[in-house]
Amino acid sequence: METGPANVEKVVIIGSGPAGWSAAIYAARANLQPVVYEGTVKPEMIPLGQLAFTTEVENYPGFPFGNVRAFIESAVDEDRHYNLPPAPKGHVKNGAPHYAVQGVELMELMKQQALNFGTRVISDDIVDVDFSGHPFRLHTGEGGIAVAQSVIVATGARANYVGLPSEDAYKNRGVSACAVCDGALPRFRNKPLVVVGGGDSAVEEATYLTNFASKVYLVHRRDELRASKIMQKRALENPKIEMTWNTVVAECLGNEKEGLTAVRLASTVGAGERTLETAGMFAAIGHTPNTAFLHGKLATNEKGYLKLTKPFRTNTSVEGVFAAGDVADDYYRQAITSAGSGCMAALDAERWLAEHYG
Ligand code: NAP
Repeated sequence: METGPANVEKVVIIGSGPAGWSAAIYAARANLQPVVYEGTVKPEMIPLGQLAFTTEVENYPGFPFGNVRAFIESAVDEDRHYNLPPAPKGHVKNGAPHYAVQGVELMELMKQQALNFGTRVISDDIVDVDFSGHPFRLHTGEGGIAVAQSVIVATGARANYVGLPSEDAYKNRGVSACAVCDGALPRFRNKPLVVVGGGDSAVEEATYLTNFASKVYLVHRRDELRASKIMQKRALENPKIEMTWNTVVAECLGNEKEGLTAVRLASTVGAGERTLETAGMFAAIGHTPNTAFLHGKLATNEKGYLKLTKPFRTNTSVEGVFAAGDVADDYYRQAITSAGSGCMAALDAERWLAEHYG
């Protein structure tokens, strides 16, 4: 295999969520001088990934409640402090803020760790790829070209919304695609809420929201759930969840001051329409992996996620291209599993480079 011109990168990482940064930390420490394209465009190349939309992350190991902010401010370069969200109010211990790490904070810490080991970060998108020969050529949103011996795709996935124009109008003002991120917000407390979907996510989110809501309406377009039996049982037996079968949301209703106040529901079996008062609508109708920029040049599974071609490895259908995180995972979809697979991809790339480029 030819080594190519001098400015050929050993590894280019596309994406800046937990998978991307973990891959960068490992690749940098292996002296591969990684370059991360962190993305600029929402929703396809979400800078800092889906965690950028998350508040407190209570299940990332190593981050128990504490005075997280003091540590973060000591660790993250000062010129990026403006990026950090305000510390959540209401948790105070020994006079100091006391809370779980927030999504953006966790990502800024990972980014810092990658930077500390020499990772170069480019605020641009990859909009097309040429994997037809080695080294690979990647086209950037600003018209540049990156040449790389190996590539790690870590562009994640994004939550699907129903797709109504009225839904857009109330995003972050009652409409959400993440109950776990937003469910505890004051606006949803002791109010009726709507969850749309019939899979495990919908059932899980509806069950979670019963911690805060006065009642949760699970709106599903069919008359049976897709969710696993055990999750179904949990929802069907929960007195706070009301199943709303054969129904879709036709319109989100509200006003400038209050945000979402109701949804207009339509029957899928010709039983008419009705209006349901609600303070929140949570879409839980699946995710879409961020693969459009690949233009079909990597094999995907039937759901559109990148296909990993070797068991317990991160290899894709193209030799020298690896995938990590949610872009290749429609099952676990956790920050910790993404970070783990980012590490795996960097180790896979390192070994592949040693074998093919010496
Ligand atoms: P999913 O299984 O694909 O379910 C999506 C649901 O949304 C389906 O019920 C579907 O209806 C509905 N839907 C899709 N598009 C819609 C639209 N435009 N309007 C209205 N409804 C629509 O997705 P998921 O629930 O996010 O689960 C994804 C994967 O993660 C699954 O493998 C799941 O098992 C896993 N997961 C596991 C857990 C857990 O074990 N704790 C939790 C969450 C997710 P139809 O049924 O009619 O197609």
